[in-house]
Amino acid sequence: MASFPQFDPEPQRNSESRKGSLFSLSFKQLTELIETFRLEPYRSRQLWHALYQQRVSSIEEITSLPQSIRDRLIQAGFQIGLPRIAQTYVSSDGTERYLVACLDEETVETVWMPNGDDGEMGDGSEAASEEADAVAATPGTPIEESRLLPYRRATICISSQVGCAVNCQFCLTAKLGVKRNLTAGEIAGQVAAVLNRHQARIGRDRINLVFMGMGEPFLNYDNFMAAVHLLVEEMGIPESRMTVSTSGILPGIQRFAKEKLRPKLALSLNAPNDSIRESIMPITRKWKIENLFEALREIPLRPRERMTFEYVLLGGVNDRLQDAAELAALLRRSGLPAKVNLIVWNPGPDIPYRMPTPADVAAFQSHLIADGVPAFLRRPRGRDIYAACGQLKRTVE
Ligand code: SAH
Ligand code: SF4
Repeated sequence: MASFPQFDPEPQRNSESRKGSLFSLSFKQLTELIETFRLEPYRSRQLWHALYQQRVSSIEEITSLPQSIRDRLIQAGFQIGLPRIAQTYVSSDGTERYLVACLDEETVETVWMPNGDDGEMGDGSEAASEEADAVAATPGTPIEESRLLPYRRATICISSQVGCAVNCQFCLTAKLGVKRNLTAGEIAGQVAAVLNRHQARIGRDRINLVFMGMGEPFLNYDNFMAAVHLLVEEMGIPESRMTVSTSGILPGIQRFAKEKLRPKLALSLNAPNDSIRESIMPITRKWKIENLFEALREIPLRPRERMTFEYVLLGGVNDRLQDAAELAALLRRSGLPAKVNLIVWNPGPDIPYRMPTPADVAAFQSHLIADGVPAFLRRPRGRDIYAACGQLKRTVE
């Protein structure tokens, strides 16, 4: 049996069952691996191509490698390690929600939203201007018909942890508590599994990624960033097409500000002041809005980029006109180039809030805009299959 001594393929893994996952190794690490097997150097390119371009799910499928090499890899304890889609729920609006199983059978949820949910609107990104182009190119055409474009556009919503420890009062995922962190391969692997299902091609199809599924990415910082590197450097998805959302983990934001490879950032603000925020997001006790803003100001933005602030509208809690006025003032004072993504709260069992009325939502949005703050309403996607924000609960109800 080939031994594999000097090199730990995935130092951050925390379960034996994921030992030897090839999907998580960079090209450089694959090259080192091929060297330890004393194989021809071009084999590393073949292996890399099978993993990240073909996105194979078993070593047996790597037919560019002779059987003898495949056997040696398997005997040495390697596996591909891609998570697999265990269940699929299809919404009437085309959104698909997947229960994705890791090798240890822990499951997380991943969502595919054809044509996105307008979350990129107004953030100054490539993805946002395409969205606008597609709408402009087909005046009066329902957005669903932009399928006629020669490429597909979709947003994939990815989980970063099994459950979440942050305990936001309005979020279903919070009810699970946190079970474990996902590894980098499991985070990026959700994308590979969903791309495979849709036979999507990076380079042709416009795929946006949002780290807005289960979990708090900045409480699993190293694996989250390692996943970003895999997605960008190995899979070829530009980081300008990625948005990571955080509930406001201060040390995470501070580290993020120093990253070279940096997705766009969204802060789940959800309130115009610390006292309302604390009542719905207890984590505010630890880090105040002002501390978070201070850290956000250290993040270098790309030309035209805006910082996104998510704001879940909870009926009677944070959706009044005075809240909109206070929010606009807060953002103006912050000095940050900001845009607000309004999200109508999605209800869930045993969560003691109510949805805002459509009139209150419209008034809130208009008030922000009148006060000079760009504000967009996120289209709720896949409500009928519990795929919308905060509805990602692992149980299969
Ligand atoms: N943990 C990260 C990312 C996942 S949550 C974060 O909190 O930012 C992604 C977004 O969904 C957050 O902006 C959160 O405020 C929002 N959200 C959570 N529960 C929701 C619900 N029930 N309805 C609408 N949005 C919700
Ligand atoms: Fe965790 Fe985000 Fe839900 Fe808060 S909103 S509990 S941080 S997943």
